[in-house]
Amino acid sequence: MKTNLKTLSASGFAAYIAEAGLPQYRAKQLLHWIYEKHAASIQDITELSKELRNRLSEKAYIGNLSIIDRRTSKDGTEKFLFGLEDGESIESVLIPDEDRLTLCISSQVGCAMGCRFCLTGTMGLKRNLAPYEITDQIINVSRAVKPKVITNIVLMGMGEPLANFDNVCEALQRMADLMKISPRRITLSTSGLAPKILELPKKGPRVNLAISLNATTDAVRDYIMPVNKTYPIRNLLDACRRFPLQQRRRITFEYVLLKGVNDSVEDAHRLVKLLKGVPSKVNLIPFNTFAGCEFESPPEKTVRSFQEVLAAANLTVLVRKSKGQDILAACGQLKAKYG
Ligand code: SAH
Ligand code: SF4
Repeated sequence: MKTNLKTLSASGFAAYIAEAGLPQYRAKQLLHWIYEKHAASIQDITELSKELRNRLSEKAYIGNLSIIDRRTSKDGTEKFLFGLEDGESIESVLIPDEDRLTLCISSQVGCAMGCRFCLTGTMGLKRNLAPYEITDQIINVSRAVKPKVITNIVLMGMGEPLANFDNVCEALQRMADLMKISPRRITLSTSGLAPKILELPKKGPRVNLAISLNATTDAVRDYIMPVNKTYPIRNLLDACRRFPLQQRRRITFEYVLLKGVNDSVEDAHRLVKLLKGVPSKVNLIPFNTFAGCEFESPPEKTVRSFQEVLAAANLTVLVRKSKGQDILAACGQLKAKYG
């Protein structure tokens, strides 16, 4: 069986090249073509002689996720559906915004965390993504949108990144070292696996952290996000306080507003108290509905009142209008079903 070169880590690559009897500078050259120039096949690496390309192709290939579907929303958001080698599928969402082009990528097929407001959560976990399946979303979308360039990466698609810790860390390492994406332009979002939050900066590059908080009492959070029963709010915020932040960086707290559940003025005041001492910014996300969900989106007036309480307490707060709702590309709407 041929080796997909993208399954190799940087050190695995060095070993592979040594075994093939080639000098080490070839490893660097190949990695540059695969991760920075996004070569789709060994034959595309025109810097190599035809002879060397043929020789490599006998035992190796450059695998690519296949784009099964690509849809554009009225607001310019694009959703990419990828087929994986075993027939599973995942989604990535490309979000243009003034001077940024952000790609929201998936870390798992499905998700085991079971948050009640999230469509991905209703599918359960199918499997973890391999490191190359995570980075390949970036490579393949980059190729598809040329000459536009992706400027920011968010791990906010399908899956709980910290529940696929080792593979996600390896993928982040490749983004930083091989794809030359600055970790400052990468944000990982988690539902709150507290111990892993503290392990992250030790293992991977120093990316930005986002926390899906979504409630201000354990009773409500236990109900909407079962992970809270294992790592309750106090535990989670304690991990946030200990998370080593780069200078002038802040933790983003995402707060999905669910009508009558977590959207009261009292909630807003409690949120202010909870975030005391944490360098933070808050993204309020009005709930995006989907068929069969028990929640509703609050009226605009409620969102504004909530926002005003936070702003009055000098918290940086943004209401994040979800994009791409017409193509089910908005937060919590990814299910990777074709049709
Ligand atoms: N599993 C990680 C990464 C996915 S991010 C996490 O939960 O953080 C998905 C983001 O979308 C989370 O902030 C989540 O709170 C939000 N979200 C999920 N379902 C949503 C919905 N139906 N409407 C609005 N936001 C939603
Ligand atoms: Fe999983 Fe995040 Fe959805 Fe919760 S919100 S089910 S953790 S993807």
